[in-house]
Amino acid sequence: MANLKLSHIYKVYDNGHKAVNDFSIDIADREFIVFVGPSGCGKSTTLRMIAGLETITAGDLFIGDTLVNDMEPKDRDIAMVFQSYALYPHMSVYENMAFGLRNRKMPEAEIKERVMKAAKILDIVDYLERKPKQMSGGQRQRVALGRALVRDPKVFLLDEPLSNLDAKLRATMRAEITALHKSLNTTFIYVTHDQVEAMTMGTRIVVMKNGYVQQIDTPMNLYNSPYNKFVAGFIGTPQMNFFNVTLKRNGDTVKIAFAGDDSITVPYEVVCKIDGNYLDGEKPAVFGIRPEHIDIDRDESGLKFIVTNVERLGNETILYGKLGDQSGEFTVKDEGNSIIVKVIDRDDIAVGDIVYAHPKLNKLHFFDAESEVTLIHKIPLYNTVEAVISGGSIRALGADTTLPQAFGQAPSGPVELIVPPQAIVPGQDFSLRVARIENADGQSLAYLQNGDRYLFALVGGNVREGDEYGFSILYDKITLRANGEDIAVPVSTEVSLEGRFSKKETREEKERVLHFFYNIGSYTIEAEKENGYKINSIDKDHCYDYTYRYAVDMDKVRIVTDGEPGLDVKVLEKLDYIKVCYARVQTEDGQTFLIKIDRDNTGSQLRIAFDGADVSVYSTRIDMKLC
Ligand code: ADP
Repeated sequence: MANLKLSHIYKVYDNGHKAVNDFSIDIADREFIVFVGPSGCGKSTTLRMIAGLETITAGDLFIGDTLVNDMEPKDRDIAMVFQSYALYPHMSVYENMAFGLRNRKMPEAEIKERVMKAAKILDIVDYLERKPKQMSGGQRQRVALGRALVRDPKVFLLDEPLSNLDAKLRATMRAEITALHKSLNTTFIYVTHDQVEAMTMGTRIVVMKNGYVQQIDTPMNLYNSPYNKFVAGFIGTPQMNFFNVTLKRNGDTVKIAFAGDDSITVPYEVVCKIDGNYLDGEKPAVFGIRPEHIDIDRDESGLKFIVTNVERLGNETILYGKLGDQSGEFTVKDEGNSIIVKVIDRDDIAVGDIVYAHPKLNKLHFFDAESEVTLIHKIPLYNTVEAVISGGSIRALGADTTLPQAFGQAPSGPVELIVPPQAIVPGQDFSLRVARIENADGQSLAYLQNGDRYLFALVGGNVREGDEYGFSILYDKITLRANGEDIAVPVSTEVSLEGRFSKKETREEKERVLHFFYNIGSYTIEAEKENGYKINSIDKDHCYDYTYRYAVDMDKVRIVTDGEPGLDVKVLEKLDYIKVCYARVQTEDGQTFLIKIDRDNTGSQLRIAFDGADVSVYSTRIDMKLC
């Protein structure tokens, strides 16, 4: 039994191919985690790094509390099952299962006990004397599982174990492996390109694409709330329908306009979490709806389409169709006009019929046309607030407040404030009525009535619907936009500096001892020894020639006195955001960044310092976190 932690794991193959990028996950004891994604997305590489069959380029892998990056596979207490069973053909099933244990010099009596126990669990007791070639694919895969089972490992790793089996056997084995996981109470990590396997087996699923994690979530959350268009399209069969659309708000309704002349109208409430900028009738968006979330009728309302193909699968019927173009013809070449609908118990629809689609209102998905990220988040990423700046004050949300000095360069006139819910805190500056409270991932999300829109804020559990909610805005966490241009952006909570890496050898009691250092200008910080070795092992001897990016949480940066070691910086300007104050500073070699200062600090020259243990190191050569 074991939990696993993967922290910023990267894999760069010797040919320079970056197969896995910044993979992080905490896997709890007894979870069944599935890595899923198209071929080549980095699933097997990640699994093989966990197994120890592939070196980890950067990042930390923990099994339990032990860092195992450099531990031999055989010492990791894991067992791996491969797609190609990898059984020894000349050995009997019993010998195949006993082989690994014999190598470990386990007493014969215990081997027998373990093999018999595993054989019983897997229902292969009658086959123990057979050779693999005398068995079916399913039986062989059971032997491969048995060989892993007898080792009683902390973690089971399974790499596409069912892909050599036919569809019917795969379904049976899926259920058997799920049952095995339940009975063993062991952590399972399972790689597959098959989303049905992922959905039916995983307690959580990691969806990957091109070496990057797209979303880590439970099967139902992936299905109901895909983070982006890729996840939306990958999970679910037939695939979700996607259409290029624009959205236009008109009072209580929003019109979804399709590429042709078609449109459907939905209540504003069902899309109220989409930022207002997308509801202007111009900004392109992608509308997604699953085939099973569309009702069909012939009543000449809804989305008109012609049926081009019908697949009858018993109670389920899959309709393939085409939307019309501007002239109402159904001959548009554009890919975006295809529609697939899954209907239950309907055999009255035939090829050539013209029917009308009605998307279920609580099942609509929208994505940004460019980034393809969802536009409906459980907790909206930001609110767009209209404001007016005049004479040192800012008018927004029905109140006049002081314009923060940091926004001094903003022009008078209308501006937009891009305010994340996290930047709204209890206070006295504004007050709005709480129209609704919703539980979003364990937090209380308040819909604050802002004219005919909502302002989304995270509030304490004591706030109730109907309350007047008093709040302030943390101006250092917002974007200020005038005439479409960003005048101010959120202050990063991290200080980022470029510098070099060096080592020094000393002799301590006749022992050679290596010390590693981060050098930023003339400021030298001793690195944690293990991090020094990490950088050394990743970049080899070149590490003393490369430039690195050193990142430190802003709260870990201290202002020190002249007598102490530190990095000298010149204060370029002071930025007062009312609740917090920053200084824009510059190093002697010209790097500028922000630090937090006390409002009464008037120094024009400061010295800052931080600890080696608080520094994260990034490669500037290949975009990668090294430690
Ligand atoms: P998946 O299991 O998702 O199909 P893999 O982890 O096997 O993907 O591979 C991820 C990427 O790394 C692929 O583009 C593959 O071609 C590449 N790759 C795999 N092994 C090696 C290797 N030994 N050397 C170079 N590139 C490799």
